[in-house]
Amino acid sequence: MSLRLIPTRYPTRSLTASYASTLKTFAKTPTFYRRFHDTPNAQNTATQQSFQNDPNHMIPTNAPQGARIATPTPASPLSVSSRLTHPGKVSPNEYLKAFNNKELISFFMIGLCTLNKPILKLCIKLFPYVPMAVIKALVYRIYCGGETLEEVKQTGLRLHERGINNMMISLTIEACDGNDNVDPEFIIDETVKSINGILVPHITKMIETCDKNINDIPSGYVALKPTGFVKNAAHVLKNYNNGEEAAFAELVAKASKACQAVYDANKKLAEIYPERTAPFVVAVIDAEKYELQPGVYELQRQLYQKFNKLNEPCYVVGTIQMYLSDSASLLAYEERLAQEKNYRLGLKLVRGAYIHSEKERATIIHKTKQDTDDNYNAGITYCIDSILNQKDKESTIGHLVVASHNAESLKLASSKVYTQENATNVNKSNVVLGQLLGMADSVTYDLIKNYQIGNVIKYVAWGPPLETKQYLLRRLEENGDAVKNDNGWPLVKAAFSTLMGRMFKASS
Ligand SMILES: Cc1cc2nc3c(=O)[nH]c(=O)nc-3n(C[C@H](O)[C@H](O)[C@H](O)COP(=O)(O)OP(=O)(O)OC[C@H]3O[C@@H](n4cnc5c(N)ncnc54)[C@H](O)[C@@H]3O)c2cc1C
Repeated sequence: MSLRLIPTRYPTRSLTASYASTLKTFAKTPTFYRRFHDTPNAQNTATQQSFQNDPNHMIPTNAPQGARIATPTPASPLSVSSRLTHPGKVSPNEYLKAFNNKELISFFMIGLCTLNKPILKLCIKLFPYVPMAVIKALVYRIYCGGETLEEVKQTGLRLHERGINNMMISLTIEACDGNDNVDPEFIIDETVKSINGILVPHITKMIETCDKNINDIPSGYVALKPTGFVKNAAHVLKNYNNGEEAAFAELVAKASKACQAVYDANKKLAEIYPERTAPFVVAVIDAEKYELQPGVYELQRQLYQKFNKLNEPCYVVGTIQMYLSDSASLLAYEERLAQEKNYRLGLKLVRGAYIHSEKERATIIHKTKQDTDDNYNAGITYCIDSILNQKDKESTIGHLVVASHNAESLKLASSKVYTQENATNVNKSNVVLGQLLGMADSVTYDLIKNYQIGNVIKYVAWGPPLETKQYLLRRLEENGDAVKNDNGWPLVKAAFSTLMGRMFKASS
């Protein structure tokens, strides 16, 4: 395995010594992680089972120094490690009880579609021809939060019933392949409405009603898709500094409008709740296909500079796709730029969703899944250490969303954040774990119910079903990747038995 420390696009000297050493540590001692990654399927099944059934696996046997969790200390109410000795025993399908019958039928169908690779490939091929009514009835409700602000608000309340106290909402109108339906004015107006109409009332309600410390409520996020903010966005992003400067400035202005709404909402909420240290709401820039990313990175930098001021919470979060072989260098480069230009960095680390459609996959994406995993785990380790090891609002990296369904990565992040020594560290509310709505629900359930980890959110795509079709297609593709732990035959069986159990209960 090779970790590509030599960047393809970013200066070598940008790798800070500590980040380089974190990467090297992961490169040298991956055996614990590798045990779970021999094949994609074995990986997730094993990981999932170990996470749910065997709390002792929470301690990596051969994990790098930085990845080790603290010694269990039962005295701390906040310590994950202490809870690991007494996890609640739940049946593996317990999480399905929170879903209604229609949703269970959808899970049943998704299980059938993901039974094996050939069936999934066929479903993906047929997907564009499936009538919208069928998609809406069978898959939309699982992966999407609704068509209107009101429906998304209701989704938020339903998530709250499952212990998930906030969301990353995303008006999903995809345009990276060109989409004539894109009306940037409409998208930005709806996005601003969603900040003030969904996120602000939702976090206010959570603060007022949850029996929790105000800093234990996760921030609410609005995801901004750069391809939605200007006509012909893909061309503009590719040529942002090569003839499309004016259109790019328009795109930045649109994104700034949403960030300004986020900034203003935070200032107002901070007056009402001054004791909160983490941001109330955050704007997140989503990452797109590789060829658009240079424009997206430039957008992120301009927004950081404008909104992430020193000694303030980070209101803007950018995304780095850690499956990219130059992502380690990019992360270090972004940190150095932020230090030079006196702003703070908010980051969402993802593995990356476009592996199936990247034309240059062989040259731009890590050669193996293991390389991506090591790089991802090194990245979150580095960011968490940066956030936790400095005083409130003093670290350059000020906010992290660990956006993943991988139980190993989530476990690693949780075990670093929720320790006895961090019990009173106010910065820990700036590390949030996020999963997509409809994905890895058993992992989300486990984090919340068995390990009482409060900083968990779901990414809630919303919008017209027709426009979300690309998003839904990617979710299907992703189900065919490694996120198989609660898909396929186990999901068919689990959904069926939960439905049957309900029917028998009702008839007796
Ligand atoms: C809150 C949230 C926000 C998100 N935002 C974005 C976004 O802005 N942009 C974006 O692109 N994605 C985004 N995603 C999607 C995310 O990239 C995928 O969900 C993620 O890649 C799935 O991986 P995982 O971390 O769950 O782990 P796993 O399921 O363990 O890993 C699967 C991933 O590993 C990588 N991989 C698989 N096989 C190989 C291989 N052979 N070689 C190298 N790498 C491999 C791929 O990235 C694949 O998706 C977001 C996800 C969440 C939860």
